Amino acid sequence: MPEERFEFQTEAAELLKMMINSVYSNRDIFLRELVSNASDALDKRRIEKLKNAELADFEPEIRIIRDKDKRTLTIADNGIGMTRGELGRYLGTIAKSGTKEFLAAAKSENNNNQENLIGQFGVGFYSAFMVAERVEVLSRKLGESGACLFKSDGSGSYTLDDAVTRGECGTTVTLHLKPVNQDSNITKDYTDEWVIRDLISKYSDYIAWPIVMPVTRHKDDQEVVQDETLNSQKAIWVRPEKDVKEEEYNEFYRHLTHDWKEPLAHIRLNAEGATSFKGLLFIPSEAPFDLVMDPNSGGISLYINRVFIMNDCKELIPEYMRFIRGVIDSDDLSLNISREILQDEPVIRVIKRSAQRKIFNELKKLLEADREKYEKFWNSFRQIFKWGVIQDSEHAKNILELALFNTSDHDGWTSIAEYKGRMKPDQAGIYCLAGRDLAALKSSPKLEAFKAKGYEVLLMSDAVDEVILVNAADALGDEHLKLLNISLDSVSIQSEDEKKAAEDELKDIEAKFAPVKEQAMAAMGDKLEDVRPSLSMTDSPACLRDTFNGLFQMEQVLRAMGQNPQPQKRILELNIKHPLVKKLMDMAESNDGQFTNLLEILYDQSLILEGAVLSEPASFVKRLNEVMTKAFGA
Ligand code: ADP
Repeated sequence: MPEERFEFQTEAAELLKMMINSVYSNRDIFLRELVSNASDALDKRRIEKLKNAELADFEPEIRIIRDKDKRTLTIADNGIGMTRGELGRYLGTIAKSGTKEFLAAAKSENNNNQENLIGQFGVGFYSAFMVAERVEVLSRKLGESGACLFKSDGSGSYTLDDAVTRGECGTTVTLHLKPVNQDSNITKDYTDEWVIRDLISKYSDYIAWPIVMPVTRHKDDQEVVQDETLNSQKAIWVRPEKDVKEEEYNEFYRHLTHDWKEPLAHIRLNAEGATSFKGLLFIPSEAPFDLVMDPNSGGISLYINRVFIMNDCKELIPEYMRFIRGVIDSDDLSLNISREILQDEPVIRVIKRSAQRKIFNELKKLLEADREKYEKFWNSFRQIFKWGVIQDSEHAKNILELALFNTSDHDGWTSIAEYKGRMKPDQAGIYCLAGRDLAALKSSPKLEAFKAKGYEVLLMSDAVDEVILVNAADALGDEHLKLLNISLDSVSIQSEDEKKAAEDELKDIEAKFAPVKEQAMAAMGDKLEDVRPSLSMTDSPACLRDTFNGLFQMEQVLRAMGQNPQPQKRILELNIKHPLVKKLMDMAESNDGQFTNLLEILYDQSLILEGAVLSEPASFVKRLNEVMTKAFGA
């Protein structure tokens, strides 16, 4: 096919524009991005070779060639290569989920923050355009005889041309470098031997394949060109801990994850004995855009005897720890292990348990030693991590002990241990209130009785919290530390005397309240289990309670997603001391036409205070207006 021109996908073009006008001040990183891509391509070719013995042997190598006269820098690999179609797809578009959101966010940020955002997003190949006016990529895919050339100056379009050849499969990326110019922020000459040496040893030393560069040396007054390997290729996880600098861990993390933000912590695994393995795990500082939504992102890479086997090996880590990234390397597995048999592999199970234990320990240490960092972790990953309470009953207690919650009395996060320290001696357990929205929870009428008595309540606003309350209330394994859902009718904080006094008071009002109940059940029996007089609130007129632990917030979530779950009937509690409820009782007695309007408004406002979205907002407004019109005599 002759040379053809294509437009970059819109998002790709936008990202390129950002790169060219670089918001990113550290331009050096282009080299590690390209080397990292080359290294991945070599890994992929090696795996193909493992799967298919017929394929030719090869000596994996990344080769860097500098040309001072032409001002080019070339990074070549003999890896898996790309077809014409792949060149267009991989380099002409961005498949990363979250790209649109990222670009929208980046546009509205100032330069400094853009840099942070880019860091989080990772731009890979496109970083080449920070230092190059033009980029050419010549590639030949493993198993194909033809090659293809991609060319672009980054300004919106690229060309693909098949009228080229390449001796072996692999990819050659040639950068036509921008001039060194302080104004354009290019301060280094990337054709200089020492500049490249320095960058490789700084950013890419651990790359498992040799990074080779021809260099000129003087011998006996003669210039000779000789190949030199620039990296030590030492797997970072086998080096003694004391020899590895924090910076090296961070670089390795970047290579592994393409996340440019430093990780919060790293964890070394080192097991010897019946099963021996080594590993290096990281706790990232922020969740990538797609982590919560996409269970396939993230994960641990499996190596066997220093050789990369697969990405995202789910069997090595429980699902609720899937935000952990890293490498696990074992000598006790066979090199041609397949994904299918991993699950039943006893070695893998041993590794998983050991990694899990280490991660728990590390998180505990972090919680005790560095609260600020820990809260970062918690803000980023709690929604995934807390599912462990449900999924892994054996470790539910560990997870709850690592959990942080908002509470009714304190700003910021509180751990169970801290809550326990502040508990009153007569508390029946840990008081909890779940809902969709923290602000709504804070002003819930259900808190009023607890506040009046000085009891602190955990406010749980993540979707998983309600599931925990329903399914794992005993997870802490201590009778005094049961999670008690204060939305439940059965959870009471009244003493016997108070109960007796309240019963007496409610008895007195029984007759007057009977018409309210009767008419309310007639009007709203489809939504209500019961209507009850109450003395538990101090300021609010009404709230909704439940007779059993149901998933009411989940119901809301489903509804927000466009589904129509069967609504669960609830109990409407009316504060008989409140003037509006007093009025309601009068209205019921006198068969006032506004009774249902007022009742429905009280019901709807209770829902609103739970952060729920009303299913019929128009009828709420209509009723409100009718009642106000009447009240104001308008
Ligand atoms: P990322 O590496 O984060 O996926 P890049 O923009 O760096 O993003 O690369 C996009 C894709 O292009 C890679 O995922 C890979 O499939 C392909 N690619 C890039 N460089 C090479 C290379 N040297 N050899 C083979 N494929 C490559």
